[in-house]
Amino acid sequence: MRTAICPGTFDPVTNGHLDIVKRSRGIFDRVIVAVTTNPKKEPLFTIEERIDMIRDAVKDMPGVEVEPFEGLLVDYARQKKEVAIVRGLRAVSDFEYELMMALMNRRLVSEIETVFMMPSEEYIYLTSTVIKEVASLGGNIRGLVPEGVENALRRKFNT
Ligand code: ADP
Repeated sequence: MRTAICPGTFDPVTNGHLDIVKRSRGIFDRVIVAVTTNPKKEPLFTIEERIDMIRDAVKDMPGVEVEPFEGLLVDYARQKKEVAIVRGLRAVSDFEYELMMALMNRRLVSEIETVFMMPSEEYIYLTSTVIKEVASLGGNIRGLVPEGVENALRRKFNT
């Protein structure tokens, strides 16, 4: 059984992330959305909140699981069988960072491949950062994030 690991911070999950998860599920038998606990980015949402929001968004997608992970992604991935890492590629700006990470991960664990997928055009410029910025100022983010995330952001920012 081939498994895709979709790793990320998901602070919060957007429809761009979910687009990649769905596409991954079209190719792989099982998808694990792996949410990093490394607080390098000082997330707005706690790990529990981020996981709950993703679980709610994927509840009708069979074969998709959500798990936290800490430490090196390749160490986490190595504990699973027949896995590939799936990352989303948006504009060209993602490319250099993603290439660097993929090559470093391959150097660390040569048998784990990284696969890149492109989202639908409407999500090409969508980032969790821009979502938080717009939401904090009371802007409309409908259609860009799941409904649960929209509500959670409204509560966080009192908008
Ligand atoms: P990280 O901190 O690891 O970059 P993110 O939560 O920002 O975590 O992103 C997780 C993954 O989802 C990355 O592969 C990223 O490129 C991808 N991604 C984020 N937003 C989008 C989007 N709008 N469309 C496609 N892929 C996306």
